[in-house]
Parts: sequence; C-alpha cells; structure tokens
Amino acid sequence: SKPIIAIVGRPNVGKSTLFNALAGEKISIVKDTPGVTRDRIYADVTWLNYQFTLIDTGGIEPDSGDLLLSHMRGQAEIAMETADVIIFLTDVRQGLVDADYQVADMLRRSGKPIVLAVNKVDNYEKFVLDTYEFYNLGLGTPFPVSANSKIGFGDLLDEVLVHC
Ligand code: GDP
Ligand code: MG
Repeated sequence: SKPIIAIVGRPNVGKSTLFNALAGEKISIVKDTPGVTRDRIYADVTWLNYQFTLIDTGGIEPDSGDLLLSHMRGQAEIAMETADVIIFLTDVRQGLVDADYQVADMLRRSGKPIVLAVNKVDNYEKFVLDTYEFYNLGLGTPFPVSANSKIGFGDLLDEVLVHC
C-alpha cells in the first residue's frame, strides 16, 4: 500500500501551507476525540510516478506554554504511530528554537526516517546561510523549501521517497 508521510513541526512554521501545496484538493479531515488536539488532515498525493498519503498533524495549535509542548508531543505521537517517513518542518525566519530541539528528540526516539525541511526560504541566496544552523538538530541535511512559493519540493520529496 501507499507510504504515509507526516508533516510535524511547531505552530506557524508552514505545515498547512506545505500540505496544501502538495495535496491540491483531495483533502479529508479526521477528527479525534473531542477536546483532544489530535485532529489531522489526510490527502492522497501523486508526485511524478509516486503516490503517497500525506498527513498534516498540526490541527488547531496552541500559542505557547505547557499546552504547546503537550500538543507537539501529541503530533509527534501521531506521526510516529502512523507514518513511514516524517517531514520535520522548521522556519528559517524564526530560526532554530528550543521547541525544535524538543520535537527532534521525541521524533528521533521513534527510529522512523526523519527528513528535515527548513521553510520560508523564499529567496535562496538571501536565506541559505541561515539554514545551516539546523544541522545542530542532528537530523542530517536541512532541505530548504518555500511552501508559499513552491520552491525546493523536488529535492525534499526525492529524499523522502528514498525511505519509502
Ligand atoms: P502551520 O501552523 O505550521 O500549519 O503554518 P501555516 O501553514 O498556517 O503558516 C503559518 C504562516 O506562515 C502563514 O502566515 C503562512 O502564510 C506563512 N508561510 C507559510 N509558508 C511560507 C513560506 O514559504 N514563506 C513565507 N514567507 N511565509 C510562509
Ligand atoms: Mg496548520
């Protein structure tokens, strides 16, 4: 059956924008237990000759504090339970922050393949140097993308599909 690829990352890094850009229109929402922020959104995606199921684990996201961390833990759990490959999305504009390290640690423990993407690289020359700090997460090469401008998707998905 088709590989399942989950997008995980902090609020506002651009998970839903990336999801929508890749998914087009075939989107379905799966509601989890009411009050629990484990809703996720699925789409069947065709990329070149490949077909996979993409999940946006974000749902409705809290802004900060303890809620944020437990929400991120829930996201990571969904991804680790269901995905064959996890896209861990970060944000070059906000840079590398503590919560990124915390999520990276949760994901790493799953042993699932993780592909690190750095979003909002709308201008490669301007932002490429800023993507290098994301090597510090210990998740390998950061792939620069712009979900808004649909830049970098080919290289990112090539790497994802290596693990499928
Ligand atoms: P999510 O909370 O991770 O799902 O993030 P969203 O997809 O809702 O995006 C959060 C904000 O980042 C929105 O204002 C988006 O328009 C913006 N955003 C998403 N992708 C990009 C990008 O590639 N470049 C820039 N400059 N902004 C982006
Ligand atoms: Mg979202």
